[in-house]
Amino acid sequence: MDHRVGEPGVTQTPLAPAQRRRATTEHPMLALQRAVGNRAMAQLAQRAPSGTAAPPAAHAPGAEYLVVVSGEPVLVRSDADEQRAKSIIDTVSATYRISVDSLKGVKATKDHYANAPQAERDKIAAIPWHIRELVAVKKALDHFAPILGQARSYSTRGAAAQEISTLGKVNTSITKNTAAGVADPDTLGEFYGSSSTFAIYQSSETSTEDFPGDVDKQIEATTTHEIAHGLMHYMIDSFIAATGFWLDEDTKSGTSDAEHPPTDYGNKNAREDLSESVMLYFVDEARLKSSCPKRHAAIREAVTLWAAPVGDFPTPDPNATTAMA
Ligand SMILES: [Zn+2]
Repeated sequence: MDHRVGEPGVTQTPLAPAQRRRATTEHPMLALQRAVGNRAMAQLAQRAPSGTAAPPAAHAPGAEYLVVVSGEPVLVRSDADEQRAKSIIDTVSATYRISVDSLKGVKATKDHYANAPQAERDKIAAIPWHIRELVAVKKALDHFAPILGQARSYSTRGAAAQEISTLGKVNTSITKNTAAGVADPDTLGEFYGSSSTFAIYQSSETSTEDFPGDVDKQIEATTTHEIAHGLMHYMIDSFIAATGFWLDEDTKSGTSDAEHPPTDYGNKNAREDLSESVMLYFVDEARLKSSCPKRHAAIREAVTLWAAPVGDFPTPDPNATTAMA
């Protein structure tokens, strides 16, 4: 497993609790591409809230062009792409009650790093979605379907407010919330609990941190990890108890035969351990089951309970017919 920033023994600056970064400092996205994207968005902002940036006929076949779909800029290659983007954004909003709103993602990032220099905070901007990102983010959300939107009210999480309400695509986060904070092109995604917002950053367009060669699976994994910080923190105590590895969220038990976290990043604290474990549970279950059976069982129990009937129902008699006779 390649190490991540945040791993013990690696010299670095501390991270925000729910922040996930790639390990490399490479910046494969061309600045030019970002500049073009931002300019296109500025032009779009002056147009009607819905409509294409230019007639599709003006584009070479297979080339990406920018459209606004339900208020969000999306790069597409065809009308079918545009319809797919609309279907995803509208379904996420209606079914999961999560709005896709990159400007809110920008605000959440800026608010979280309020102590960073204004010049660095001014660099934070919304950028267009690619179709593949919307598809992968939707896949991640689908894992939590029983505790999102209307379904949540019938689940064991129905009494608690939904922890995530907004998704945004943003160019960059910031390294730390101090006067020394600078724009951080390595953050993949970050969940901001105070604004119940998940921002996915530009580095996710190319990262394959956990799934080499598979950007789509990586985005699904990053998103699953981040939103698990919000949607599954409620089970942190039972998770800690199940593993034996932690005394509390930030203190290791030191028990030598305790089951270790599934990844190096999970060693950081119990919250990261839980998010890494949930990520693997949904995206690479066989790996979690074989390497961390206790974590696997604890998460499976929690997930199974989501859809269980709420209330004290009698257990059905498996031999009801016989018993009646
Ligand atoms: Zn995390």
